Amino acid sequence: QEKDYQFMLRTKNPGGFVPPQLYLALDKLADEYGNHTLRATTRQGFQLHGILKKNLKTAIATIVKNLGSTLGACGDINRNVMAPPVPFKNRPDYEYAWEYAQNIADLLSPQTGAYYEIWLDGEKAISAEESPEVKAARQRNGNGTIIHDTEEPIYGTHYMPRKFKVCVTVPGDNSVDLYSQDLSLVIITNESGQLEGFNVFAGGGLGRTHGKEETFARLADAICYVAKDDVYDLVKAIVATQRDYGDRTDRRHARLKYLINDWGVDKFRAKVEEYFGKPVAPFQELPEFKYQDFLGWHEQGDGKLFLGISIDNGRVKDEGSFQLKTALREIVEQFNLPIRLTPHQNLIFCDIEPNNKQAIQEILNQRGVVSDPGQIEPLVRYAMACPALPTCGLAITESERAIPGILERIRSLLDKLGLQDEHFVVRMTGCPNGCARPYMAELGFVGSAPDTYQLWLGGSPDQTRLAQPYTERLHHNDIESFLEPIFVYFQKSKQSGESFGDFCDRVGFDAIREFAGNYVPE
Ligand code: SF4
Repeated sequence: QEKDYQFMLRTKNPGGFVPPQLYLALDKLADEYGNHTLRATTRQGFQLHGILKKNLKTAIATIVKNLGSTLGACGDINRNVMAPPVPFKNRPDYEYAWEYAQNIADLLSPQTGAYYEIWLDGEKAISAEESPEVKAARQRNGNGTIIHDTEEPIYGTHYMPRKFKVCVTVPGDNSVDLYSQDLSLVIITNESGQLEGFNVFAGGGLGRTHGKEETFARLADAICYVAKDDVYDLVKAIVATQRDYGDRTDRRHARLKYLINDWGVDKFRAKVEEYFGKPVAPFQELPEFKYQDFLGWHEQGDGKLFLGISIDNGRVKDEGSFQLKTALREIVEQFNLPIRLTPHQNLIFCDIEPNNKQAIQEILNQRGVVSDPGQIEPLVRYAMACPALPTCGLAITESERAIPGILERIRSLLDKLGLQDEHFVVRMTGCPNGCARPYMAELGFVGSAPDTYQLWLGGSPDQTRLAQPYTERLHHNDIESFLEPIFVYFQKSKQSGESFGDFCDRVGFDAIREFAGNYVPE
């Protein structure tokens, strides 16, 4: 008899958009076939854990019939396309970001009918049709001729050498961690707010392997600017360059970041121009990127409200008097609200009528869910952890289950040292794959052995700089004794308003090590 194999299902939601019907279907699937929880991912999708093999078909078919998909949430193709989750309705640039995130997801969607044959007995999805413009772009070569002869005009017969991650954002909004993606597009509008084109970054990626120097986390480079009418052809040209020149002999060296690193930006840009069929324009100046989480109640610019709810490590669950899963279901059932998942594993309810605010707030209060971000410990608010044990087969050690205790201990240490007003971005993963993007954190923990982490320091509060590995193996029992001298140095030598990550980057690891080496606890 076959074993009861368990699977994880991950949804694809461009821009994190989850219609109410899909949310209710996922909530029910988690109870009927999963482990009674949903997990918001760091790429704005949901994961269902613990689905038995015999229930996979029903679960996937249910997702597709309720306006969702799992096609392209995993595998060596384009993954879920990210976009800022904040639902501002008076900002055309945000509207463009959602529209193009959806269109690029459609453009790079596999065209094979196998998904529907296997999981839906050939029944085609009832989700929205893609735009004719996107369909035409998929079938067009760089030189304007039409591609007829393949089922997969973009991916060809061998798909991509490795996963490919895309985001679309607006100037200044780094809620999408744009430097960590294979391809990031930034909306450029004219003075009256109309779309002109996109700035293009490429070559970011975080996954690495311990002890293998040839694997590394890397920030995306500024590549070019592209006018809006050409954007799909440029995206295809970049995808085709990686498809044809990405390393297919070594999966550890297969992401686009290694191709760009090996070639340099100029050679990469020149090859992209060959596929694109003409020269690209220079990158345009951008303002600084900032991170904001938009938790709590806000006006969305059209008379309606939105509400950002913090979800610790993305885990939607009921536990004792904390009834987050029930609260979310009740709100969606009663008010039929669409959701945008955030890249920080939180959730935003959109399009709330102001006269429903009180009733929604009452549900949250009754179910023990905090909606005022001021009441959330800031270390917790800005932290992320991947699932790791027990659900991820690649995990070396704990992450989601360990981080609450570790954050409490860091808070106690900061308080003891007179740093009670300080907080910073902490991220943790159970292995160097880096799903919770620890290499962009101010303090990153990357599982390196059981109960032991590689420690990364020096990322920025807005995730615009890569952190660096400070120590290879820190046992979780030693966290306080190891961090205390570093925090004391921070307290004594930080500049006014300087964050912990910026401090570590400014003074450098040699100075930190010297201070720590001479440190005598009081
Ligand atoms: Fe699993 Fe590693 Fe990703 Fe964590 S970072 S979810 S342990 S693959």
